[in-house]
Amino acid sequence: ERNKRWTDVDSYFSDLLIAHDPMLEEALQNNTAAGLPPQDVAPNQGKLLHLLARIQRARTILEIGTLGGYSTIWLARALPADGRLITLESDPKHAEIARVNIARAGLSDVVEVRVGQALDLLQELDAESRCFDMIFIDADKPNNPKYFEWALKLSRIGSMIIGDNVVRDGAVADADSTDPSVQGVRRFFELIASEPRVSATAIQTVGCKGYDGFAIALVTDDV
Ligand code: SAM
Repeated sequence: ERNKRWTDVDSYFSDLLIAHDPMLEEALQNNTAAGLPPQDVAPNQGKLLHLLARIQRARTILEIGTLGGYSTIWLARALPADGRLITLESDPKHAEIARVNIARAGLSDVVEVRVGQALDLLQELDAESRCFDMIFIDADKPNNPKYFEWALKLSRIGSMIIGDNVVRDGAVADADSTDPSVQGVRRFFELIASEPRVSATAIQTVGCKGYDGFAIALVTDDV
């Protein structure tokens, strides 16, 4: 009942504020048809990411966790013509579907999908001396602490680091949780809290994807 109300309100906002977009809608349909888990961000969350990228005037974006490329498309559409988005995905099937969705959205020149374990690919990006204006962390949550450390390495002053699914039905407040994802998210917050080079907050959200939330950290000092 609660969830139905959350979903109704999400639909209300999305219908009003998010223009009908065949490419994004097709991407979701392709993901479902291919049997991908329905872990894409919601449309109004995708638009939030898009707006944040625009507010940030991001020219380079890193995404950790591509799935079918739904959030990727939202983020890539916020980039200027010479912008670049690199997205990391360990599952070759997910990456393949994402590439198809990204190509259909006309974003193949802007987006690079790299396939492999994110921790290996992050090391590779560091070796290439990459730096990103915005980093979206949305992969396996037990690795969130490591992803945060890499994100910081791949940042500059003013970079924005966003973490998805950081509330986990409220379980994040449970210090005794034995769930590796909850433990990963809690350790991620501890790192952020003790890191003088970032200023951060976190927000709980409800909606068609349930009860969850985002963390946002701004890199404020020399990295
Ligand atoms: N950002 C996507 C969206 O909103 O459309 C959703 C991403 S989904 C929550 C998480 C993705 O991370 C899955 O596709 C999964 O295969 C991938 N993943 C999980 N562990 C990973 C790892 N160690 N390295 C890279 N990708 C990983």
